[in-house]
Formats: sequence, C-alpha cells, structure tokens
Amino acid sequence: EPMQVIKKLNHHNFRAYLVGGSLRDYLLGNTPQDFDIATDAKPEDVMRLFEKVIPTGINHGTVTVIINDVKIEVTTFRIEKEYQNHRWPSVEFTDSLYEDLKRRDFTINAMAYHPDEGLIDYFNGLDDLKNRIVRCVGNPQERFFEDALRILRCIRFAAQLNFSIDTMTFQGVVLLKDLLKKISMERINTELSKILKSKNPLYGIQLLYESGVGEVVIQEYERIYKFLHSTKFDLIPFSLKIPAFFAALRDAKKVETLMRKLRFDRKNIALAITLCNYLNSEYSTEYLVRKIFFEEEKAEEIIIALSILNKDDTMVELFNKLRVKNRLVKKEDVKIKGEDLLELGLKGKEIGNVLQMVYEYILYNPEKNNRKDILDFVN
Ligand code: ATP
Repeated sequence: EPMQVIKKLNHHNFRAYLVGGSLRDYLLGNTPQDFDIATDAKPEDVMRLFEKVIPTGINHGTVTVIINDVKIEVTTFRIEKEYQNHRWPSVEFTDSLYEDLKRRDFTINAMAYHPDEGLIDYFNGLDDLKNRIVRCVGNPQERFFEDALRILRCIRFAAQLNFSIDTMTFQGVVLLKDLLKKISMERINTELSKILKSKNPLYGIQLLYESGVGEVVIQEYERIYKFLHSTKFDLIPFSLKIPAFFAALRDAKKVETLMRKLRFDRKNIALAITLCNYLNSEYSTEYLVRKIFFEEEKAEEIIIALSILNKDDTMVELFNKLRVKNRLVKKEDVKIKGEDLLELGLKGKEIGNVLQMVYEYILYNPEKNNRKDILDFVN
C-alpha cells in the first residue's frame, strides 16, 4: 500500500519516500503497523489525489491516506524553524528531502526509501541500525535542547529495540535531562508507557536510572528502580506493567498523586493502588490468593504480578492449583448449578452460599469438577 501511494504521487510529478519508524522497522525485519511517507506534495495536493483521506495534522503538513484499511501518513517535507521552550516547534515546508531528514531525532529514524532510488541514508542510519545504536542526528546537546522530549524518546527507542545509546548521545541525555520538566505530563506519560510496555522494560528502567532521567520524571524513582531491579519485571502481564511499575512506590497515596499528575487513566491508577495495597498487606498468601480470586476483575494477572514482585514461590504454587490445565475455572464452568441445589431442597440464600463453597472447592480440586463428586461434597 505505501508503494502505491509513492507511485501515484510520482505519477503526478511529486517526489515521495518511505521514511521514519516504518522504514526502520522494515529494515529490522519487522512488519510496520503504519507507514510514514514524506513528499514535496502539499497537503491539499494529497487531499485531492487520494480517495480516502483524513486531514490528521494539516497544520503540520500531515494527511492520512487509507488504502485497504492500511493507514499511511503522508507528510510534506518540512523543517522545524523555531523551537519554543524546548518543545514542539512551528513548522515550515521545504523542497529538500535532506532538510526534512536532518530535523529528525535519531539516525535510525532519519532514512528514506524509494523503490527506484533505493535507500537514502545521509546520516549513516543503516550502520547504526546494524550496530544497534541510538544516535542523535547532529549534535546531541543541541537536539535535546531544541526538543527535550527527545531525551525520553532516546531511552524509549533503546528499550523498544534493545539498542545501546551512543556515548555522546547518552552524555547529552544526562546533561540536559532537567529540561524534561518543561514537557507536558501527557507526552511524558506516552513515552514512559512505551518504555514499560517495550520488549525490554527492565533495560529501559535501568537506562532511566543510570541517566538520572527517572529521577527527573518521578522524584522517588530510586525506590521504584531498586524494587523492580530485584524482580523479573519483564514477566509481569502486559496489562499490569504500568500499575506494577508505580506500585513499587509502595504508598497508595503517593502512587495515586503521581499517576494523576502524569495523566494516567482511572483503570491503571485503580490497578496500581490495588497492587500496592496487596504488596503491603500482611495477609497470608493463601488468603490473598482467595481474596483476589473472588474479588478482582483481573485476578489472574494480579496474582501473577504479585508472585513476581514478591518473589514468592508459594504464591505461584497456589496459583497453579487454582488452574485446570492452565485454564482458570470460571464460575459457569462448575458442573453444578443453582437449580440442582434447589432440587436437593436448599433454599434462597443457602443456595448462593453453598454454590460459593462448591466453587472454592473446585478451584482447589479441579479434578472433582463432575456432578457426582460435587454432590458428595455438598452432602
Ligand atoms: P513508533 O511509531 O514506534 O512510535 P516512530 O519512529 O514512528 O516510532 P513517531 O513518534 O511516530 O515514532 O515519529 C515518526 C518519525 O518522526 C520518527 O521516526 C522521527 O523521524 C520523527 N520524529 C518524531 N518525533 C520527533 C521529535 N520529537 N524530534 C525529531 N523527530 C521526530
């Protein structure tokens, strides 16, 4: 699909190239999710030439073209003139692909590809891709000064791609990290979330620690780092990565305040507080497992996360007992229903209570999940 867009633009005498993250991912052998094309066509040209278009960021020169449900962001070559307050600049269009690539953050993100011209790589991005290095285009300190979010993006790409960070670039990160205070919480949240959900969250957490960026973004980062460093954070279920990270602060109030400040959604905040409270609790493992199992929506994940964060093997064992062949017993899977108990002569509230007991019994004795064994138990 992106090649179709390039061909069509070329056909109308515009230049067009595949650029950015999609090219990087493609060269790494991964299938990109969405595609970026840079062109000298203006947004109004792109709007005119394609059937399905969304003017996503027309002020920044971006139009989304949709072909066969694939989204392709087509952006006019641009330079970013003035950087205001270390962030998002005003933009200006240019005819030069070189200028467009030069304003991009890292060499691995600053290549272009055209089916006839091949790879266009002014800043040795391909070498950096091969050597697995995140390196600024140009002088790192200048680039971070222009847009401080790049400091966090640098760590994010390293974590997502499992790349190292070039020495000068890392020095830039360390020197200018305090400028991140000028960046909005939403944008910090986006990058932080991507780091935590990357393939190598622990590596990202380590980089945040070593560079001091963690401390700038979250004052008590050291606490989080020390705790998570001693656990296999990578193994925590995907949906609990963010809550688990913040729960490491171990103080529900602080967790809530910080996550609100960083504009996390209610669901993540609630889960973080739950995890935090369970981590602090003095309940026995068995009690905790039962409580979570019966009361929480994400019971399975919470138990896994707790067992990893606590390094408590008994919890893992208990949890395994609660499963049948890796599959959780759900209430509706229990081979006896309320009507069966009614037939046995039980009434009203009794039925609910006995069903709950049966359910708990089956959780711990999944092999007994058949009518005969259950009726024996009830009797
Ligand atoms: P992903 O889509 O996986 O987040 P990406 O590389 O596509 O990765 P985007 O944030 O979508 O990242 O940005 C697209 C491209 O725009 C980047 O590859 C980079 O070339 C450029 N870019 C984005 N943000 C910046 C920035 N703050 N400074 C300089 N260039 C940037």
